[in-house]
Amino acid sequence: MKHDITETVSRRSLNTLTITFQDFQLSSDLTKAIKRMGFEEATPIQAQTIPLGLANKDVIGQAQTGTGKTAAFGIPLVEKINPESPNIQAIVIAPTRELAIQVSEELYKIGQDKRARVLPIYGGQDIGRQIRALKKNPHIIVGTPGRLIDHINRRTMRLQTVNTVVLDEADEMLNMGFIEDIESILSNVPEDHQTLLFSATMPAPIKRIAERFMNNPEHIKVKAKEMTVSNIQQFYLEVHERKKFDTLTRLLDIQSPELAIVFGRTKRRVDELTEALNLRGYTAEGIHGDLTQAKRMVALRKFKQGAIEVLVATDVAARGLDISGVTHVYNFDVPQDPESYVHRIGRTGRAGKTGMAMTFITPREKDMLRAIEQTTKRKMDRMKPPTLDEAIEGQQQVTVDRIRTIIEENNLNFYMSAAAELLEDHDAVTVVAAAIKMMTKEPDDTPVRLTEEAPLRTKRHKSHHRSSKRRDGGGYRGKNNRSSYDKKRSSNDRRQKKSYNS
Ligand code: ADP
Ligand code: MG
Repeated sequence: MKHDITETVSRRSLNTLTITFQDFQLSSDLTKAIKRMGFEEATPIQAQTIPLGLANKDVIGQAQTGTGKTAAFGIPLVEKINPESPNIQAIVIAPTRELAIQVSEELYKIGQDKRARVLPIYGGQDIGRQIRALKKNPHIIVGTPGRLIDHINRRTMRLQTVNTVVLDEADEMLNMGFIEDIESILSNVPEDHQTLLFSATMPAPIKRIAERFMNNPEHIKVKAKEMTVSNIQQFYLEVHERKKFDTLTRLLDIQSPELAIVFGRTKRRVDELTEALNLRGYTAEGIHGDLTQAKRMVALRKFKQGAIEVLVATDVAARGLDISGVTHVYNFDVPQDPESYVHRIGRTGRAGKTGMAMTFITPREKDMLRAIEQTTKRKMDRMKPPTLDEAIEGQQQVTVDRIRTIIEENNLNFYMSAAAELLEDHDAVTVVAAAIKMMTKEPDDTPVRLTEEAPLRTKRHKSHHRSSKRRDGGGYRGKNNRSSYDKKRSSNDRRQKKSYNS
């Protein structure tokens, strides 16, 4: 297998040229798998990393969440696996269980036709089960640092045959205090292996790892700007702390998002927001680091399946998560630093789709707005907080759209005589108005309680500090194809709604 696309396509042109997966001259097994995954064009980090990866070069990849880093290292890694061999040939180290699972799922898909065996190894899972799985000769291990060390020490996993090592989200592993674990894992891998390191930021300890364990690495950097700009509409709303919640629900009513994430600053905030949204008849689930693994997974799965409308999250909980199809991001609290902003809104506008991001700014947080705009090099548009009337109008519009769709479906024979009967006693406008009223969510002013958050001040932004000791991620992606009508109903309406839909 010789790959020399690096020579044929100059690095400079990669930034402007569209690179398709055909261009990498991959084996037919991978080509098939990638096609099945629906990938056509390579993302910038993929366009640059894949040829280097195939050529066995060491790579440092710096790019934000959602830029396709998994396939960037996954494709060359899987391509080089020898499926006939019983040996562990590659190891991917990721900061959390959820990310390990997410990465292993993607690698599994890439290697499906090739029959590459991928095994996720993480803490919290029964070690006996892992030992049994390790005996089945996996080719690729994707694991969290602690549990990998555990298996190395127990000698239940041998890395002597590993020729590719990937460090995914290295800065996050640093934040979580895994640096020594990583060094210890790396020292168990034979000298002449390829290392691919991915990190959103490059703090000094990560640079040192690179210097110590990598061999003349190519540094590839994809700027945050490239991912945030083109297809995300960015708005800010000036809102007083006490008005934030009503503003949020009105926006939800008007915008009727298919899949929305609301970001709160603290865990308490996420809990309170989730409860408040549910009280007002939205289906919401919250994720943050204090929830058990199982709870977070359930929430994420529901979100991806479209069983809930709104996911409420802290930055920590959402970072690194692959959640596709998000149409609206609401920054209920302004993010801690411009970098978090980029991460947050990067949840939307993926894969060529458009997205919308609304950021609530309290009067004392104006500086934050400017700091963010300086980082993204884009001005946000000002959006006026919607009024109650606008929200009601928005809800009516949802109903009207739904009615139009039903008319188009032209499947109403069964209802015609009842309609005719109604029209004998009332004029058409009255009848339709009654139907709209019945199907429209009434404004809900159930009182909710939110503890106030102190406004954020811009002092200084520590570049890689992320305030949390641990992070959580998650990893199931799913399609969401509910009609917008399905979504904005009060809980009372919910049962009734089914009959309209079927
Ligand atoms: P990152 O690790 O940079 O945060 P991921 O590898 O998780 O990003 O990819 C984000 C999402 O984009 C995933 O759903 C992935 O399947 C999808 N994706 C990756 N590469 C492509 C591509 N070339 N075309 C379309 N979708 C892609
Ligand atoms: Mg990733």
